[in-house]
Amino acid sequence: MSKLSRREFIKLAGVATSLGVAGLGSARAKGAAHVVVLGGGFGGATAAKYLKKFDPSIQVTLIEAQKQYTTCPASNWVIGGLRPMKSIVFGYDALASKYAIKVVHDTAVQIDAETKKVKLKGGDSIAYDRLIVSPGIDFRWETIEGYDAEVAEKIPHAWQAGPQTLVLKKQIEAMDDGGTVIIAAPPNPFRCPPGPYERASLIAHYLHKHKPKSKVLILDAKAKFSKQPLFTAGWEKLYGYGSDKSLIEWLPGPDGTVSAVDAKAMSVVAGEIEETFKGAVINIIPAQKAGRIAHDAGLTDESGWCPVDHMTWESLQHEGIHVIGDASIAAKGMPKSGYMANSEAKVCAAAVVDLLQGKPPGIPSWVNTCYSLVGPKYGISVAAVYGVHDGKAGKVKGAGGVSPKGSNTMLEAIYAESWFNNITDDLFG
Ligand code: FAD
Repeated sequence: MSKLSRREFIKLAGVATSLGVAGLGSARAKGAAHVVVLGGGFGGATAAKYLKKFDPSIQVTLIEAQKQYTTCPASNWVIGGLRPMKSIVFGYDALASKYAIKVVHDTAVQIDAETKKVKLKGGDSIAYDRLIVSPGIDFRWETIEGYDAEVAEKIPHAWQAGPQTLVLKKQIEAMDDGGTVIIAAPPNPFRCPPGPYERASLIAHYLHKHKPKSKVLILDAKAKFSKQPLFTAGWEKLYGYGSDKSLIEWLPGPDGTVSAVDAKAMSVVAGEIEETFKGAVINIIPAQKAGRIAHDAGLTDESGWCPVDHMTWESLQHEGIHVIGDASIAAKGMPKSGYMANSEAKVCAAAVVDLLQGKPPGIPSWVNTCYSLVGPKYGISVAAVYGVHDGKAGKVKGAGGVSPKGSNTMLEAIYAESWFNNITDDLFG
């Protein structure tokens, strides 16, 4: 990151003061600063590790509810039978032993922005100088009649990887040949824009191999989707998309917008004419919002997501608290992806270190690439680089793009695997 000039810093500090943003230019007088990171996923694990890399003298506590983290990236590969579940499960030992991060496995139930404390379900309270929050997503259960957390045990969303991933996989393995797997794709904005379509692809791959009379029906709340021309070209090649025998059918919104689920009848209702579709397996991916703790802490706005200053990812609602990852309102064009959360976390960690040291934060840049597998040896991707122009974060023109026409899809599938290995090592290694 390039540093701000003295003139730019004085200007920024003036703006920050007028906005009531604390911490800029005020180094801690003495003692090691304590940064608490809430959530040990793509955003939080990266932030905790890079705080320590940038300034080992800072005390870092990572609060994470789960003892092990299951990645959503590559969870579709597990559902499609391409790799085992255990290959997407990671622990926090290296963060604790190699980076001296205090890892606390508990659920944060309250953030007190006034007294700067996080209260845990187990009863403890942890004080912080700065807090980085990366709690991921929660679902807007109220948007689909008949669908809630309890029904999701039987009709999985599998949009937070873990037990739900296996429920969906086993249901597909158990269904009779000739059945329909319904995937209800959510409205924008949501975690992993290409995710539902990668899932449809890899379920189709499984059906092609094991249950060729079956098919996947995508009922979509949207009229278009991420990397659509690349996905449909792959579907045509691998799954007969567009023909009578296609293994995949896509019904765009508004006709495809699912409004109700009947768990007993294994059916969903979609579109204004309220058409009923029956599924042997149903995968509902509901509309989303920031993770619950962000709402409880007053970090969200009316959109249901957390507004932040993109230069530091500090909350615009509460000073001293930074929000990264899916829960935040990122700059225009930045998707809710694991790679984006990883990039935001590094920018945020660097800014927090600078702020604690009384230095002006640097001018950041970010990067994102989302790979998707259309089949085991068929990969596609979208990439972007983001920078700051006129004080605002946005895409760098001409940097990135989607896989070009005629690209080597087999090579892209290899890159997808190696991206997964590299990023999980960056998080947990
Ligand atoms: P998460 O990774 O979900 O981490 C949040 C963590 O916070 C969780 O571990 C949770 O247990 C913890 N937590 C929440 N609340 C509390 C609390 N109150 N107390 C304690 N702990 C708490 N992205 C890519 O870049 N590439 C891909 O190929 C890709 N594929 C995907 C495929 C699927 C099927 C899905 C669903 C997503 C995919 N993504 C992908 C998106 C990626 O998973 C998310 O964008 C990423 O996980 C966001 O990181 P995060 O830190 O915001 O949230």
